[in-house]
Amino acid sequence: MTVAQDITLAAQVRSDFPILHQEVNGSPLVYFDNAATSQKPQAVLDVLNHYYQHDNANVHRGIHALSARATESYEGARDKVAAFVGAASRDEIVFTRNASEAINLVAYSWAMNTLQPGDEILLSVMEHHSNLVPWQLAAQRTGAVLKFVGLNDTQGFNLEEFHQLISDKTKLVAVNHVSNTLGCINPVAEIVETAHRHGAKVLIDACQSVPHMAVNVQELGCDWLVASGHKMCAPTGIGFLYGRLDLLQAMPPFLGGGEMIADVFLDHSTYAELPHKFEAGTPAIAEAIALGAAVDYLTNIGMDRIAAYEHDLTAYLFRQLNQIPEVTIYGPQPETDGSGRASLASFTVEGVHAQDLSTLLDQSGVAIRSGHHCTQPLHRLLDINSTARASLYFYNTTDEIDRFIAALKDTISFFGSIFEED
Ligand SMILES: *Cc1c(COP(=O)(O)O)cnc(C)c1O
Repeated sequence: MTVAQDITLAAQVRSDFPILHQEVNGSPLVYFDNAATSQKPQAVLDVLNHYYQHDNANVHRGIHALSARATESYEGARDKVAAFVGAASRDEIVFTRNASEAINLVAYSWAMNTLQPGDEILLSVMEHHSNLVPWQLAAQRTGAVLKFVGLNDTQGFNLEEFHQLISDKTKLVAVNHVSNTLGCINPVAEIVETAHRHGAKVLIDACQSVPHMAVNVQELGCDWLVASGHKMCAPTGIGFLYGRLDLLQAMPPFLGGGEMIADVFLDHSTYAELPHKFEAGTPAIAEAIALGAAVDYLTNIGMDRIAAYEHDLTAYLFRQLNQIPEVTIYGPQPETDGSGRASLASFTVEGVHAQDLSTLLDQSGVAIRSGHHCTQPLHRLLDINSTARASLYFYNTTDEIDRFIAALKDTISFFGSIFEED
C-alpha cells in the first residue's frame, strides 16, 4: 500500500472513535500514546452500554433469561478471541484482568510448582516489567536462575546470543513479540522452535503484536501467549492468556473462589473444567464482551490491512524523524516500505529532557509518552534515563505526523534559543 491509499483507511475509521474529535490546549488532539493504551471505537462503547442496559446479570450461575444472555455473550467473546489468535480450542483462552495477570498466572501456577534450583529462565533485556518481575519472583521462590538475551547491533533481539544462552538447563523462555520501547519484531517462531528442541516452554508477550498484526498461536507453536484488551480497542480490566490445552490441564489453579470449582467441601474442593478453573470469582463480564466486539471490529477491517497501513505510517514517521539532527531513535530502522518494525518511535532529543518534550508537545495537543515505558533495565543498558515515545495505531494519519513533527521542531528551536541566550 502507498501513503495515498492509507488515507482511505484513516478516513474510514476516524469517525468511529469519538474521543479523537476534540481539542487539547486549543489544538486538535493528536493521540500518539497507543502503546500505552488504545482508544475505543463507538461499536465497543455501544456494546458496553447495551450490556448494562439490557443483559446485566452474573454469568454461569442463573438459569433466568438475563443470566443466560450474559453467559452466552461472555462465552461468545471467548470464541471470538480463540478464533482471533488461532487457538485450537476455546478452552485454551482464559480471561484475565490484563496481560500482567496472565503472566503472573503462569508464574504462580506453572513456574513456582515446576522449576527446581538451577533451572534457567531465559528472558531478554528489553522485556516489559510485567514480563520480568513475575519471573524474578518465581526465581526467588524456586532457586531458578534468570538469564538475559541482549541486543544486536541494530538494537533488536540478539538471536545469536539466544542460541548461545539456551541449553537443556533452560526450562522457560519468556519474550515479547514486539518491543514496546524498541519497536523491533522478534523472531518468535525461531525462538519457539529452538526452545522446544531443548525441552523448554515458551511464553510470548504479545501485547504489542496482537493489536497490530495477524498472530496465530498454532503457527508460532508457543506454549502460552498473553495480551491486554485495552491496547486493542477494548476496555481496561480485560486481557487473556492463551495456553496449550494439555499444559493448562496439568497446571494447578492460580486463584481460588467461586466459578472455578466443581464441588466444595469444608476441607477440600474439586475444580471446574478449563477454562473456568482459572477464572475465580465474578469475571469482568461487560469488558470481556466488549473485547469480543473489539475483535469483531479489528477483524472487519482486517489485520493485514491494519499492518500494511501502519507500515505506511511507520515509513512516513521515520522519514521525518530521521531528518532532525538532534533526534536519536532507539531500535531498528524500518524497511523502506515501513515494514520490519512497529509503528512507534522511542527517541531522545539532544538538549531537551524527554519530560519537557512531552509537556511542551501537549501544549500543541500532541499526546506522547516520556519515561522508561516499563522497560527500566533496557533504558539503563542504553545508558539513558528516559525516552520520548510516539506510538501510532491505524486511526492515526500522516497529517497528524506532520503536526507532531512541527511541534517537535518548535520545541527543539525553543530550547535552542534558550541556550543561545545563556
Ligand atoms: C502494555 C504491555 C504489558 C503490560 O500490559 P498490562 O495491560 O499493563 O498488563 C506487557 N508487555 C508489553 C510489551 C506491553 O506493551
